[in-house]
Amino acid sequence: MAELNWSENIEYTASALHHPTSVAELQELVAAATHVKALGTRHSFNRIADTEGAQISTASLDLSATIDHDAMTATVPGGWSYAMVASTLEAAGVALSNMGSLPHISIAGGSATGTHGSGDANQILAAEISALDLVTADGSLKHVDRASPELAAMAVGLGAFGIVTAVTLDVQPSYLVRQDLYKGASWDVVLENLDEVMASAYSVNLHADFSSSDTRTIWQKSRVATDAVDAVPAELWGATRLDQTELDPGRVTSLLPPGPWNERLPHFVPEGAPSVGGDELQTEYFVDRSNAVAAIDTLRSMGTRIDPHLHGTEIRTLAADDMWLSPTIGRDCLCIGFTWKKHVREVLSLLPEIEAALAPLEPTPHWGKLFAFTHAELARRFDRLDDFVGLVHELDPSGKFDNSFLRRIAG
Ligand SMILES: Cc1cc2nc3c(=O)[nH]c(=O)nc-3n(C[C@H](O)[C@H](O)[C@H](O)COP(=O)(O)OP(=O)(O)OC[C@H]3O[C@@H](n4cnc5c(N)ncnc54)[C@H](O)[C@@H]3O)c2cc1C
Repeated sequence: MAELNWSENIEYTASALHHPTSVAELQELVAAATHVKALGTRHSFNRIADTEGAQISTASLDLSATIDHDAMTATVPGGWSYAMVASTLEAAGVALSNMGSLPHISIAGGSATGTHGSGDANQILAAEISALDLVTADGSLKHVDRASPELAAMAVGLGAFGIVTAVTLDVQPSYLVRQDLYKGASWDVVLENLDEVMASAYSVNLHADFSSSDTRTIWQKSRVATDAVDAVPAELWGATRLDQTELDPGRVTSLLPPGPWNERLPHFVPEGAPSVGGDELQTEYFVDRSNAVAAIDTLRSMGTRIDPHLHGTEIRTLAADDMWLSPTIGRDCLCIGFTWKKHVREVLSLLPEIEAALAPLEPTPHWGKLFAFTHAELARRFDRLDDFVGLVHELDPSGKFDNSFLRRIAG
């Protein structure tokens, strides 16, 4: 039976799915294949993880994590989920700087698509990668670290360079995070104070739709020194603070008391189904912070067209980086995420309209979600796209890791 992605909107064309248990076995599989592709936890919404050959999961490789407390780095298996990595790091007293909304996804898969959390000073998760170990097209092992300019291409690598076995990440001392949720601020007030709202905590996530006059929630995640439950304002920007009892503890991470970073930075607990449980599609665009209000205004002007197909939007911020295909390369960004209802036909026909409306603001896409940009549009926004394609051809001359998604990106 054909394999499906998590949200079951993609049926992979791959002929087989292998689960090698050793790196040597993985190398043999890659060396012998004509076409092959790494598969993570299948949480992407497009064909990025598909192949005309076989998919390979690295989740069963016999690798373990090592933590270097002097260098403050951790080398972890690429097939591990963020939940596994984060609890291993926390047990050793160290932490990552940020996490995405769900801890279920794999480290290698999340990095490959530029997965991110939120925070004015936080970069996408791949920015913490200091080295990668991967099996390249001829089956050989390659180690790439910050001494090589290739790391900036491969950290957000779209699965194009090979199959990552291990990822080395910068770590820092463990810390505590407190969550506060405020409900019902009006869009007008939020937009008048957007910079202040998004700077109001270490990580801020704004949930809304585009046609209502009010936003839904402002979700603050603050780094705190102790787990004391200090009083915070009951009202902010006209929004009222939500009580923990209004959330589902089987799905959503606890608000109070403050807890370890890995149990508060994600929105969803690893044991539960995240988001709306897969009955969804997702899209996300990134615009320069100077265009933040203009981008939201544009989408609100299309609100009555967008919202019938939308579960909700999540708006976050990120700091700039220098990774070649990072959606935040060279600019601090506002990220506008769409969690769509599973209205596949309607959503796919709306995306070109949304992208045309946002075009003057030069949006970049989330590589793991749905978008309609052509190669020409992407090449205008990613100066290093041709360099990326050139490096892929150099390392994978026969196109072993190629697929329909990469051919579209590469033009
Ligand atoms: C409910 C939900 C919530 C989400 N929330 C967020 C969020 O908060 N922030 C955000 O930015 N994104 C979010 N996403 C998107 C998600 O983080 C990305 O799609 C991510 O890439 C999924 O990782 P994965 O392990 O499922 O990778 P897959 O979807 O399985 O694969 C994605 C890519 O990674 C490559 N890959 C996987 N493993 C390896 C490997 N070992 N070596 C080389 N390449 C590999 C694949 O070949 C493919 O190209 C969300 C998705 C869902 C379903």
